Amino acid sequence: MPAHYDAIIIGTGQSGKPLAVALAKSGWKTAVIEREHVGGTCVNVGCTPTKTMVASARIAYLAHRAANYGVNAGDVSVDMAKVHARKKAIVESFRKGGQDRLEKTPNLELIFGVARFKDNRTVEVRLNGGGTREMTTDKIVINTGGAPALPPMPGLSEVRPLNSSTIMELQALPEHLLCWAEATSASSSPRCSAASAAASPSFIVMTG
Ligand SMILES: Cc1cc2nc3c(=O)[nH]c(=O)nc-3n(C[C@H](O)[C@H](O)[C@H](O)COP(=O)(O)OP(=O)(O)OC[C@H]3O[C@@H](n4cnc5c(N)ncnc54)[C@H](O)[C@@H]3O)c2cc1C
Repeated sequence: MPAHYDAIIIGTGQSGKPLAVALAKSGWKTAVIEREHVGGTCVNVGCTPTKTMVASARIAYLAHRAANYGVNAGDVSVDMAKVHARKKAIVESFRKGGQDRLEKTPNLELIFGVARFKDNRTVEVRLNGGGTREMTTDKIVINTGGAPALPPMPGLSEVRPLNSSTIMELQALPEHLLCWAEATSASSSPRCSAASAAASPSFIVMTG
């Protein structure tokens, strides 16, 4: 016999998380299902990580221009691994805060797995830990957001394109991106020979 809930929420994005807490606090027996990370795109691969990296870029820019303002900042370089580690720590703390809040709310059950409809009142969850669970309700809220997709472009999959999620996992800039960046700026270095720049893709695909 499937468990019955007053409400089932699929996805813990922008509205799923606060709605689940609000319903549970008002006394509804609520289940919220998440297939990956609590917080969805904004917390995990969108707003939060991009803004932490933009903050690092801004500091690098200001430090680079320090001498113009009479400040000796020395040689400025960017340690991408540290930028990435800082981004990761902030994302994880936001994600954990959201997950703790869901887990500590009475009447609320957080279930990690992929939800699908069995019929208009029954949801089946393929649990991340293995197995499946079925649950029923009269109120289902879908907050499943969107996902990056590759456009159907011949040859694209062979050039290992970066999307909005994978680009933020880089620990260092790939050689071809360095060459591309230098080719589009006034400065250049021996690292980016004309040959390697010419061999580099002249585009980055951002899908979202
Ligand atoms: C790189 C980037 C930067 C951004 N920066 C900003 C910004 O600065 N400011 C801003 O306002 N917006 C920004 N956005 C947009 C913002 O992230 C999205 O508009 C917002 O996250 C969408 O929220 P959502 O709740 O609709 O979906 P999502 O946040 O995507 O949440 C959907 C959730 O549902 C889960 N899910 C999906 N299917 C299932 C299933 N079958 N079973 C269980 N769970 C499922 C997913 O895992 C996910 O956790 C950015 C987006 C990107 C990609």
